[in-house]
Amino acid sequence: MAVASSSRRKRVAHSSDIEDGPTQKSAREDVDADDEIARSVVKKEKKSVKGKGRATETHQREDADEEDDEDDKIDAENFPDQPLDKSHAIPMKGLASDWEIMIRTIQRTNNMVSDVAVALADAVEGDEGQKDLLDLERSLKDLVDIENEMHTNHEVIQNLVQEVTSGTEIDNIIEQYQGNVRKSKKSYAIKTTRQKYAKNETYKYFKQSIYEIEHPGVAMPPVTEFMSKEPGDVSDDDDDLEMGAVTQDYKCPLTLRPLENPVTSEICGHSFSQDAIRGLFDGYRGAKKCPASGCTREFRLSDCKPNKELAKKLKLHTRRLKRKDQEQEVEEIIE
Ligand SMILES: [Zn+2]
Repeated sequence: MAVASSSRRKRVAHSSDIEDGPTQKSAREDVDADDEIARSVVKKEKKSVKGKGRATETHQREDADEEDDEDDKIDAENFPDQPLDKSHAIPMKGLASDWEIMIRTIQRTNNMVSDVAVALADAVEGDEGQKDLLDLERSLKDLVDIENEMHTNHEVIQNLVQEVTSGTEIDNIIEQYQGNVRKSKKSYAIKTTRQKYAKNETYKYFKQSIYEIEHPGVAMPPVTEFMSKEPGDVSDDDDDLEMGAVTQDYKCPLTLRPLENPVTSEICGHSFSQDAIRGLFDGYRGAKKCPASGCTREFRLSDCKPNKELAKKLKLHTRRLKRKDQEQEVEEIIE
């Protein structure tokens, strides 16, 4: 998706956002932050004008008197862009956090798209919903692209902030910013489908949920299996594949009952009921061997993080089971 300027780019995201109020506000803030940078650049320019005034002492008075007029006259024709330095770090950070807000917004949108898709797959059986699902998948991929571009902008600003706070003066901020964003977008554009989407949490959740609905009780193969290998994809036994391959049967390996408040080990991807894994560690802060059968990894309790996606899937799964039971009961009654 090629979009020229960052502000246009943001509007693209707005249009896909459902909550109008807060995002419009953040667009406003963004404009303000841009202005602020512009203003502080001008301020610097003023300073350098005053400096020159002092150098030619005879004109000092007049310079002071005319200062206001002169401010109006200052423009790019007479003064080259002034470098950004430490003093600009704060408005720059403001810009960076605007991108963060945008990223959170688009992530919410992506989650909504995938929730809609899952609900659709859940409601429509057979081939009926396939076309809609494909459309939704395409939209989700586009949104992942946009999300990536936002991350890029955020990162580029963050790096520039780091440079100025460490004392570097940046002369050609606009060229640098645009250049870095362009570079990063180029390297994203040549990524393979797997590299672009297989690691995106929302996309993974989307694929997994739909797979489950279509293949109840079957563990999903790694998400990369659904994307044909392209030149540039490394071998199949890539690290990336590991997590997708973990079988999810919604049972806690400790309680052997359905997961409750699932937490997932970031080391091996196995999930447990929160109380059960806490009980296993019982205050112990070191690493223990993963209790999932066949897993040889070790992790600490602090490596286990609440897994909202899994909790969501668990809920859907439970609902499906219930529905199946009800259908069976109905059949039995009919018989
Ligand atoms: Zn494990």
